[in-house]
Amino acid sequence: MAWDFSTEPEFQEKLDWIESFCKEEIEPLDLVFPGAVRSRNPKVKAIVDPLKQQVKDQGLWALFLDQELGGPGFGQLKLALVNEILGRYGSAPAIFGTAAPDTGNMELVAAYGTEEQKERWLFPLLRQEIFSAYSMTEPHGGSDPNMFKTVAVRDGDEWVINGEKWFTSAGRIADILFVMCTNGIFIVPRESPGVEIMPYPAMHNHIRYTDVRVPLDHLLGPEDGAKVLAQRRLGGGRIHHAMRTIAQCKRAFDMMCERALSRESHGKLIAEHQMVQEAIANSYAEINMLRLLVLWTAWTIDNSSTQAARTQIAACKYTCAKVLREVSYRALHIYGSLGTTNLTPLQAMYAGAPTMGIADGVDEVHKVTVARNVLKDYKPHEGLWPSEYLPAKREQARKKFADVIAKEPDLATYADAVERRAFA
Ligand SMILES: Cc1cc2nc3c(=O)[nH]c(=O)nc-3n(C[C@H](O)[C@H](O)[C@H](O)COP(=O)(O)OP(=O)(O)OC[C@H]3O[C@@H](n4cnc5c(N)ncnc54)[C@H](O)[C@@H]3O)c2cc1C
Repeated sequence: MAWDFSTEPEFQEKLDWIESFCKEEIEPLDLVFPGAVRSRNPKVKAIVDPLKQQVKDQGLWALFLDQELGGPGFGQLKLALVNEILGRYGSAPAIFGTAAPDTGNMELVAAYGTEEQKERWLFPLLRQEIFSAYSMTEPHGGSDPNMFKTVAVRDGDEWVINGEKWFTSAGRIADILFVMCTNGIFIVPRESPGVEIMPYPAMHNHIRYTDVRVPLDHLLGPEDGAKVLAQRRLGGGRIHHAMRTIAQCKRAFDMMCERALSRESHGKLIAEHQMVQEAIANSYAEINMLRLLVLWTAWTIDNSSTQAARTQIAACKYTCAKVLREVSYRALHIYGSLGTTNLTPLQAMYAGAPTMGIADGVDEVHKVTVARNVLKDYKPHEGLWPSEYLPAKREQARKKFADVIAKEPDLATYADAVERRAFA
């Protein structure tokens, strides 16, 4: 019977290495040079590149990719265990070559790109010689892809793209933009004439595409394949976010427990107050429920596909936002006034929780997906009563005992008495 929650000792060794590397090398980098990992400044790169090299030397670079594409081919379950560590440190995903939005974009080129496209974009992305962004959401609405208007029109040997995108994360510093048009996904060099990046928002960019021309081979995958490619990309991205969110929740939880054991009020440790214990107990259970949901989903992807796991991925997506919101709030609250400052990570964590409920699709849309897919396995009951209506079930069940009851009339009296008591 295969039902195992243990980690192979050889892989545990890798996890242990990752944990100490993150603590000893990446955390100090984040504290002193936040954002260094994407800097093109040679002096900053001289600090960051050796760290990336250490990761490569351990065979841990680009963990999300199969071996033939330059990753270790761990699969999603092992990636989940790694991301549970990386998610605690801001620049760890990039130092391990697994940072969004590049990961999702690389997955797309790996899955749909021609050999030539892989040479031109996938391998440089993999080596982090170039960076990318994903340009899908439009200013007039992001939740409903049927409302998107950006379109590419073929003109001779070129596609001409017109439209407007909103919240393209890291678009300003990307070398290439994956632009979702109504008729396909196109790879657009950011410096192409007609690409105009608006001043706001600063990090998640508002971009106008006006008569932007790209050669025909900049279409990724089939023409009219935008929705299929987008689903594939976002499915992978959502589960990776959920994996990293577990790390955030655990960080808040560790902080909560440490503090609860460190301060007193009204004559006892804060940890000894029942309401604080309730906060700790609920957080413990919620984090572990989320973790099991995410690991089960990762395992399902490994054993089938992202598409087959879409209901589970959607459930991970809104559950991770909810657990982060609840746990970070409780931790912040237990920290009292200190929790409300930016002197610990808690305030940023709590402020980030609503973001988790919006990025990669709003919670409501994922809940609709889950409910719709789950309902496909059910059918309405026949007649007036639900199938679990007990009097009807009991009547059916009595038929099974009809012969015995016919031989032993006392049993009929006994069963009638039990039924009268049950429905009194
Ligand atoms: C941190 C972050 C990073 C992002 N990065 C990118 C990126 O790199 N590239 C990119 O293209 N996009 C990106 N996005 C955008 C993201 O995909 C959209 O914000 C998201 O799809 C929602 O679209 P919207 O913001 O237009 O909200 P809207 O579609 O306007 O929705 C607003 C609200 O309306 C309600 N609502 C909408 N639809 C429904 C429904 N069907 N049922 C019930 N209620 C509903 C919900 O309450 C929802 O929160 C990012 C967003 C965030 C927060």
